[in-house]
Amino acid sequence: MKLAQVDQLFTGFRLATMALPGTVLGTDLDGTPLLSAGQSCFGEIPDAVIGVANGRIAWIVPRSMLLEPDGQGPVEVIDGHGRWITPGLVDCHTHLVYGGNRANEWESRLNGVPYAEIARQGGGILSSVRSTRDASEDELVRSARGRLERLMSEGVTTVEIKSGYGLDVETELKMLRAARRLEAEMNVRVVTTLLAAHAVPPEFKGRTDDYVDLVCKKIIPAAKELCTAVDAFCESIAFDCAQTTRVFQAAIDEGLRIKVHAEQLTYTGMAVIAAEMGALSVDHIEYLPDRDCETLARCGTVATLLPGAFYCLRETRLPPVAALRQAGVPIAISTDSNPGSSPVVSLLLMGNMACNLFGLTCGEALAGMTRNAAMALGLQGEVGTLQPGCVADLAVWNVGSPPEILYGIGHNPCVAVYKNGKRTL
Ligand SMILES: [Zn+2]
Repeated sequence: MKLAQVDQLFTGFRLATMALPGTVLGTDLDGTPLLSAGQSCFGEIPDAVIGVANGRIAWIVPRSMLLEPDGQGPVEVIDGHGRWITPGLVDCHTHLVYGGNRANEWESRLNGVPYAEIARQGGGILSSVRSTRDASEDELVRSARGRLERLMSEGVTTVEIKSGYGLDVETELKMLRAARRLEAEMNVRVVTTLLAAHAVPPEFKGRTDDYVDLVCKKIIPAAKELCTAVDAFCESIAFDCAQTTRVFQAAIDEGLRIKVHAEQLTYTGMAVIAAEMGALSVDHIEYLPDRDCETLARCGTVATLLPGAFYCLRETRLPPVAALRQAGVPIAISTDSNPGSSPVVSLLLMGNMACNLFGLTCGEALAGMTRNAAMALGLQGEVGTLQPGCVADLAVWNVGSPPEILYGIGHNPCVAVYKNGKRTL
């Protein structure tokens, strides 16, 4: 038996590979399978060695099978001393870049000022639009950096960041550039999404279709080099299904992927339309009826659940978890980190809430922050699982078992993080 040459060995770890049961994790140079992911929901392997070459996982084999590396060049050995290791976490839905914050507005609401009154005073999403338009690109990078550091301290190695507080060509591009700079300046993978169809800007009040024209004809073409997907907020208070479909068609015409904020406050039917159009994910979906879950499953669309917004908005309508599970829809969990409905910088807390509020199992929640979150970004097989071919983005945990990663509230058991095999925390 001969293994492919590697430059790093991660040994002495307990692995939660998060790969689907039966996934082949290691082969010898002749292609003979040597190890498959365990049958548990965590894809557990109790004692294995991860071989990494050029920042990517080359193979995973039982420690008993490992021969002395025949060594051209030095091999770095990282010993886990029995600690648990998972794929680096993936936060697949955030609005991390924005100007200002909305703490005052939150306080007003707690003091009994109705949301409609706050909106009349220029609050809500349009207040974030004003402060984001006013902020320089440097200021946006600086304020987002602190939030991103908190996410990264919990083992997040991939984060999606949306625009959507600019609502004009110039500011939407400024937000996407700020997000791209965060990747360049920090040890994290950033996936950028254009969310110009987040709200109707004040200068287009009463002219929603004209704004949709601007999004389709100007903003999407101008932003296409800075993002991989286009998102939209389809809701009674935002864009309807016809307008959202127009935005998505323009995105597809430019070669971009699509995803949608849908069925959050009311049922519009947009989740199914988006899935049929090839959406990577449909997000929020508290009002998705059970009958729509089959379509998501058939189209391979991920259902992204956002417990932070559910909690902050004091929603009571639960997403259709049993029907999603029954239909076999991959479920992702994310922070939805944003200044209004989810000022959250802890993905671990979201995992805990997904279990306690939405009834997910620990295995489902952890898959929602790894394998399925990767799928929601079109990055399955690249991040989100420990398997050959994936980048060596790894999180190390001081826990006795994988559920303990999500068990504590306000507790962070992440003790080390590797990105492309290089230690970053
Ligand atoms: Zn969102």
